[in-house]
Amino acid sequence: MIRIERSERLKKLPPYLFVEIDRAKKKAVDEGRDIIDLGIGDPDIPTPNFIIDALNRAVRDPKTHRYALDQGLPEFKAAIAKWFKRRFNVELNPENEILPLIGSKEGIAHTPLAFVNPGEIVLVPDPCYPPYRSGSLFAGGEVVSMPLLEKNRFLPNLRAINHPLLHKVRMLFINYPNNPTSAVCDRKFFKDIVDFAAKHNIIVCQDAAYSEVTFDGFKSSSILEAEGAKEVAVEFHSLSKTFNMTGWRIGFACGNAGIIEGLAKVKSNIDSGIFSAIQRAGITALENYERHIGSTIKVYQERRDILVGGLNTLGWNAQKPKATFYVWMHVPPRYTSATFAKALLEKCDIVVTPGNGFGEHGEGYVRMALTVDKRRIKEAVNRIKERLW
Ligand SMILES: *Cc1c(COP(=O)(O)O)cnc(C)c1O
Repeated sequence: MIRIERSERLKKLPPYLFVEIDRAKKKAVDEGRDIIDLGIGDPDIPTPNFIIDALNRAVRDPKTHRYALDQGLPEFKAAIAKWFKRRFNVELNPENEILPLIGSKEGIAHTPLAFVNPGEIVLVPDPCYPPYRSGSLFAGGEVVSMPLLEKNRFLPNLRAINHPLLHKVRMLFINYPNNPTSAVCDRKFFKDIVDFAAKHNIIVCQDAAYSEVTFDGFKSSSILEAEGAKEVAVEFHSLSKTFNMTGWRIGFACGNAGIIEGLAKVKSNIDSGIFSAIQRAGITALENYERHIGSTIKVYQERRDILVGGLNTLGWNAQKPKATFYVWMHVPPRYTSATFAKALLEKCDIVVTPGNGFGEHGEGYVRMALTVDKRRIKEAVNRIKERLW
């Protein structure tokens, strides 16, 4: 037997903090306890039938059975450009400003490989979706955290970024609407980011996975609406959350042509495109976006109101998010993220995600996902009331 020694880049990944809660959850499930899982960032609602029908038609066409073009189906890219124009009033050139992805996670994790050299810095929000950090580390980059603090409405404070290091910063990640904090930003913030990046020669990666999951009439904007954005930025979009298609693996990057080209170059050496039938279904999804999205928003908004309303009757002062399907909540006094998550599991059979798993500034919070039906959410609130509070 040879010695199976992991690479330095794998060893550099931050420790996985959910080991204990995963184990406790598995044990609870094995014991047959009735678990309400608010830990899952994955829609419970099935993909709409009109998209499944489109896939069915496409998969019967043998033209979809061969390797897809690396750079994506031209018809899919054209549908993306049309949707982007309708949704954000931004023109994108399908030839060089759009790149379909096998889910946006893949594109996010691969982008640093195209632009970051060992020792160069990537600015990453803390707390954050883990691939920003791991993708940067795989590229040999140094990760410097941008704390997302409640007093700054969970926006990074650009003025606090350390000046002696700025010349080594190659890339920065932002994510609005935000996972896990559910914060949103306005156009002015995007403009500030673009100006900051232009001044310091930094590539901006904005993750817009939740751009369409917004409530109370709020509509999120694209960073590409900001003047000068196409000089510095790409934005990552996903069909996963918008159309309940997480398992299908389809998304796209759009924006600066040079960034798109570099990412495409990396990917052409790693994958061979998205199954063409799925891209055709993606066209149908985007073409029917306007008549689909309302029903999705309505479901999460109702669940949000039940969960936040219910928690607040316990005196917890949870905030109603304007976007995403997460409630990001302070843990009650005398708990940490981990001990509170543990108490909810042990006493109430409820799974939540401890905030510190997303970064040290997530300590003191838990994330609850609105991905179970409203009956179960009511049940969760009742259990907390009866067994914990
Ligand atoms: C779910 C999610 C994604 C989307 O991932 P896909 O790979 O497109 O399914 C991207 N970013 C964040 C922050 C997410 O939560």
